[in-house]
Amino acid sequence: MFTRNRLLVFFSILGISQLFGQERPNIVFIFSDDHAYQAVSAYGSVLNETPNIDRLATEGMLFDRCYVTNSICGPQRATIQTGKYSHKNGFLRNGNHFDGNQKTFPKLLQKAGYQTAVIGKWHLGEHMPPKGYDYSEVLIGQGPYYNPPMLKDENGDGKQERIQHTGYTSDIISDLTLAWLKNGREPNKPFMLMTQHKAPHRNWQPGPKYLTKYDDQVMPEPATLFEDYNIRLKAHRDQAMQIDRDLNANDLKLVSPTNLTPEQLKTWTNAYRYKNNRFLDSPLTGVPEIRWKYQRYIKDYLRSIDSVDEAVGEILDYLDESGLADNTIVIYTSDQGFYLGEHGWFDKRWIYEESLKTPFIVRWPGTVKTGSKNEDIVSPIDFAATFLEIAGHSVPEDWDGRSILPILKGDTPNDWRKFLYYHYYEYPGWHLVRRHYGIVDGRYKLIHFYEDDVDEWELIDLVADPLEQKNFFHDPKYELIVHSLGRELERLRMQLDVPDEDPKASFMQGDTPERYLGLLR
Ligand code: CA
Repeated sequence: MFTRNRLLVFFSILGISQLFGQERPNIVFIFSDDHAYQAVSAYGSVLNETPNIDRLATEGMLFDRCYVTNSICGPQRATIQTGKYSHKNGFLRNGNHFDGNQKTFPKLLQKAGYQTAVIGKWHLGEHMPPKGYDYSEVLIGQGPYYNPPMLKDENGDGKQERIQHTGYTSDIISDLTLAWLKNGREPNKPFMLMTQHKAPHRNWQPGPKYLTKYDDQVMPEPATLFEDYNIRLKAHRDQAMQIDRDLNANDLKLVSPTNLTPEQLKTWTNAYRYKNNRFLDSPLTGVPEIRWKYQRYIKDYLRSIDSVDEAVGEILDYLDESGLADNTIVIYTSDQGFYLGEHGWFDKRWIYEESLKTPFIVRWPGTVKTGSKNEDIVSPIDFAATFLEIAGHSVPEDWDGRSILPILKGDTPNDWRKFLYYHYYEYPGWHLVRRHYGIVDGRYKLIHFYEDDVDEWELIDLVADPLEQKNFFHDPKYELIVHSLGRELERLRMQLDVPDEDPKASFMQGDTPERYLGLLR
C-alpha cells in the first residue's frame, strides 16, 4: 500500500514533487522604496544599524551586484511584475499607466497553485486594481507617510474599497501584513506575499518613535558631498537634485506636514521646533548651510528606515512563532538605490553605483547557505523568473530576466550574464536627469547621454576611480575597453530589441524642464 511518504518518494523520483503544492516554499517579498545599500549595516553602512535586515543576511545570502535596469520607482516595479525591460512592458517613466492585462509573475503563480497578496505601495497607477493577487491593499500613488487612505480588494475580484487609516504608514503596512499572515492565508496552499513600504521615499517623514533619534550625533559626510560639476559633463550640470540647492522647506522639515492629527502634530512639533528655531535664529550660509542640510536630510532618511527595519523584525518574529520560517523564503530589497550626498545629490535615476545597485538579501532555510555573499550580476528583472522556477512553473520565453535559483543554491551557471543593459528615460522629469543608456560589467560602465542638446559618452572604471568622478572615454589607454564594451552594448541592444527612437510613452505631453524646476523649488 502507498503511504503518503512513499508517494512523495515516487513523485520526487518523477521530478514532479511540486504536485504537492503545500511543500513548495512560501515567498515573503519585503520591498522598500529608495533604500540605499549605504544605509544597510549588512552592506557596511557607516551611518546606521539595521539589525533586522541584517538578520536576513546572517541567515541567508547577500547580493553585492544586484543592478536595476531603470533606476526609478514605477518602471522598476513594472519590471519586477513582468520580468521585462521598460521598453517591452510599456512602463518607461513615472506617470505611465501599467498595463495589468499583460503576463505577470503573480498571475502565473496563481495558476501554479499559489495564493498571492500585495500590501502597501503599488505605484503602478489607479486606473486598474492590481491584477494577479488574491488579496491587495495598496496606497494610492506615492501615498502619504501618515494617515494613508488605501484601496483594498479582499478577494481579487477587482472591486476596491477605500479605507482611511490613521497612524504611521510603515506601521500600518506592517500591521496589515501580520494580519494577512495570521488570518488571510489558506493553510493548504503555498503563498507569495509582497509587503511594500513607502519609506524611505522623499520627503522622509519619520515615524513618531524615531523623530529625535540621531539628534545628538553628527553623521559622516560622503567624500563627494562637495562635487565640482564644472569638470563633469553637461548631463551632470543639468540635474536638479543637489543637496545645497534643491531641497525645499518640506524636505528640510522647516514646515510641518499638513495631514497630521492634532496629537501627531504635537509630537512632530515638539521634535522639530527646537532644532528648527536654532537654525532659523542664526541662519547659515555657504558650506555650513550645506552641511546643515545634509545632516537634516540624512537623519530624517535614516529615521524613516528605522520603521522599515522594525517592520522586517516583526515579520521575522511572526514567521518564527508560527512555524512558517522553515519553509518560507524571505527577501529584502528596494526598488532602487539612492544618493546619500554622494556627488552632492539626493534622489536616484543615474547609472552610477548608488542608484544602480539595490540591496537584495535572500533567506531560504536549508537551501541558501547562511552568511553567504554573492557577486554575480543579478537584477530585479530576474525576480519574476526566479519565483516561477521556485514554484515549478515554466518561465515565458519572451521574458528578459533569468531565474537565479541555481545561484541561490550556490551553483552559478557557466553562461550567467557578464553584462547588464541599463536605460533611463524620464526627461524632462523630476530632478532633470538626462536620458541615458549603458552597459555595466561590475567594473566598467559605458554610458551614452543621447538627447539632441546632450550627446555625450562616458566610461567609468570602478577600480581606477571608485567614486565615479572621472570619464575615461577619451583616454587612449582605455581604447580597447571602449571598443569591446561598445560591441557588447550594441549586441545587447539588438538582443533586447531596444528601439532606435524612444517610445512615445516616455515623453509627457507639454513637459518642459522649467515646469519641473517650478515644482521642485
Ligand atoms: Ca523608488
